[in-house]
Amino acid sequence: MRYDVVVVGARVAGAATALLLARSGLRVLVLDRAKSGTDTLSTHALMRGAVLQLTRWGLLDRVIAAGTPPVQRVTFRYAGEVVPVEIKPSFGVDALYAPRRTVLDPILVNAAAESGADLCFGVAVSDVEREASGRVTGVLGRRRDGRGFRARARLVVGADGIRSTIAERVLAPVERIGTGGGATTYGYWPGLGTEGYEWNFRPDAASGIIPTNDDLSCVFASATPGRIGRGGPAPLLEILAETDPEMASRLATTSPPPMRTFTGCRGYVRRPWGPGWALVGDAGYFKDPLSAHGITDALRDAELLTRAVVSMLVDGADERDALGSYQATRDALSSSLFQVTDIIAGHRWTDRQIGDLLLRLNAAMADELDLLAELPALSAAGRRLDASIG
Ligand SMILES: Cc1cc2nc3c(=O)[nH]c(=O)nc-3n(C[C@H](O)[C@H](O)[C@H](O)COP(=O)(O)OP(=O)(O)OC[C@H]3O[C@@H](n4cnc5c(N)ncnc54)[C@H](O)[C@@H]3O)c2cc1C
Repeated sequence: MRYDVVVVGARVAGAATALLLARSGLRVLVLDRAKSGTDTLSTHALMRGAVLQLTRWGLLDRVIAAGTPPVQRVTFRYAGEVVPVEIKPSFGVDALYAPRRTVLDPILVNAAAESGADLCFGVAVSDVEREASGRVTGVLGRRRDGRGFRARARLVVGADGIRSTIAERVLAPVERIGTGGGATTYGYWPGLGTEGYEWNFRPDAASGIIPTNDDLSCVFASATPGRIGRGGPAPLLEILAETDPEMASRLATTSPPPMRTFTGCRGYVRRPWGPGWALVGDAGYFKDPLSAHGITDALRDAELLTRAVVSMLVDGADERDALGSYQATRDALSSSLFQVTDIIAGHRWTDRQIGDLLLRLNAAMADELDLLAELPALSAAGRRLDASIG
């Protein structure tokens, strides 16, 4: 099999990249070892940048049609204050959304397929193929039934998450590493009737509520890994009692749902490209979930990478210039967010400091919105590179 681009990983970063590449007329194959439509370890609060991207790509209607409730207010509790922030219409976005990953990921996957990308689930990629110069020319893997798998491409994109096989096989250099990460435990409660996102911050005790599909609310707690331990209702209720005592009392009288726990990982920024390969999403850049920004960044970088790939494979730009410029823009937009998330998620702050840190977090998102809003629409399909397919 020979493609313009093989994308490894079919979730927010990979499916979105494939969608945009296919819409630009490139031949794309997306591989994932998971089953289509499955859940993953992640809460799913989208920030304005993600909603803007879904709107620009014509997919927000599908998120809304899936019954995802609009979020029109974000309430912060910290240092003894309750600070409600209304979501004012701007950049064409008048509400935030938090679709379950079982809703959002299939919307992107289906849109990629509708745009002409080939998708193949149940294939675990184990290595890249290279030519004598060392340039990556494809991937090798195995199907679920044990049969080997091989696909060739002009570019291999690793969108395979935090434990990226592609990043490991191409020896993608780590250019920045965080100082420590928090742990998160979360579960879904029915009928809480909460409106909007709620974020609560005390030293070594953060929590929040994210309303989502099916009248469920995702309730999470984040703290140092030692405090969260193996997670579950006990640390969640203990942390809620410190950060949102009213909700803690309500939940204490319910039977707890199944819970999932992320035990923490230091943030990192990898160089996201080399000869014949590129990284997007968590594979290239990860920060603690407490900023609730990983999906938003993945949707942003899917478009930045697509523009670089199209300029290279369609318009003939030099690979180093095109992918180098993708990295430069990604890094410029991510640098302050990475830094402030690292401090907040390391839980190394006091009640007196957290207000300023949250303002810095908010400011770090502003440049991203300006850039996304100014991007012209990607040009339509029809420029398929038949000549490039050997
Ligand atoms: C506890 C937690 C809470 C979070 N909450 C939020 C939040 O509220 N808002 C937010 O914006 N972000 C949140 N995030 C971050 C968000 O989940 C990630 O940034 C996002 O999932 C990254 O998407 P991705 O497509 O890069 O990778 P992933 O979603 O990790 O997808 C990678 C895909 O690659 C596949 N794959 C991996 N290796 C291979 C292989 N070798 N062969 C084939 N397939 C492979 C996997 O099966 C997977 O489907 C949270 C993260 C965690 C851990």
